[in-house]
Amino acid sequence: MPLTAQMVKEFGLSRGLDLVGIAPVERFEGAPEQMDPRYIFPAARSVIVTARRIPRGTYRGIEEGTHWSNYTFYAYNRLNMFFRPLATYETACFIEDHGFEAVPVYPGVPECNPTRGPLRPGQPGPDVFPAIRIAAVAGGLGEIGWSKVFLTRQFGPRQRLGMIVTDADLEPDPIVPPGSICDRCMACVRDCPGHCIPHVRDNQVVRIKLAGQTIEWADVHMGKCTLTHHGLNVEASPFLARDCPGLRLNVAKQECSEEEAYKLAYTIAGATWRKTPEFPSGRVVDYYKTMLDTTGYYAVCGAKGCIRACMMHLEQTGRIEATFQNEFRRREPWVIPPPEG
Ligand code: SF4
Ligand code: SF4
Repeated sequence: MPLTAQMVKEFGLSRGLDLVGIAPVERFEGAPEQMDPRYIFPAARSVIVTARRIPRGTYRGIEEGTHWSNYTFYAYNRLNMFFRPLATYETACFIEDHGFEAVPVYPGVPECNPTRGPLRPGQPGPDVFPAIRIAAVAGGLGEIGWSKVFLTRQFGPRQRLGMIVTDADLEPDPIVPPGSICDRCMACVRDCPGHCIPHVRDNQVVRIKLAGQTIEWADVHMGKCTLTHHGLNVEASPFLARDCPGLRLNVAKQECSEEEAYKLAYTIAGATWRKTPEFPSGRVVDYYKTMLDTTGYYAVCGAKGCIRACMMHLEQTGRIEATFQNEFRRREPWVIPPPEG
């Protein structure tokens, strides 16, 4: 029986994927070499983008200010490293059972430039990593919001993405017209404790062309986001604010480059946390160590602006399909006053 797009989608959904979209490889024409899936599989005909939702409830503990590890475990680490890849892997095997090669591609970070030269003339060096959100636009799953987070009509900002590159010729999905979901409300900008998403009026924009469409999003300072995400922003981390009140890490006031912020965040995130005479029962140390033992890292911000605020806006304005019996936010959010100076 010939393999069809419908068969691939039905199989992926039966294995737990929530969304499956298909792009013909031609939609990647003009992509930077280091992000072009055709350099991973030159005979490729289709790129299949897979998504599994982030349950809204994984944000509940951080929203209430009482429980952090749930989000890191279920919405980040295990969702990205296990739940979604497993369904993607099974879908790749299903395609291969029908006689086509299927390359399940882990969505790495394209900005990690290769340090090695090409192994053949005329091709990029290892590793090529397609930009997963751009691939998801090409596959018709949704659009990149102003916040740079990928948005779908089904779940708004709540999903993690994966990819399969195959030589099967599958019927493509239409691209979602830009502006269908994100209405530039700026809720993400207002609520981001990392102050890293510029306002639309500041005109700090990333703009690309994809399959004849212009796609743009805010030029987010990913270094400040990474500092905040990893708990090094006293405005977002109650652990830092409570246990190290003298550490005046005001991320909003930093003028560091993205590279400087990455260096600090990843060094501290990768540290071996243990009890010391200074922290005999240190809660920061205990907290970080627990997170590192269970997930390998910790997601402290809980995406307060780029996902939680965006999700609430899209739910309230009926711009997405996911609906709930109750509003997500039922009281004023907790706030840690920013440090002075
Ligand atoms: S909160 Fe969401 S919908 Fe509003 S501007 Fe940001 S990304 Fe767009
Ligand atoms: S994860 Fe937090 S700091 Fe980063 S963009 Fe989202 S809201 Fe801002």
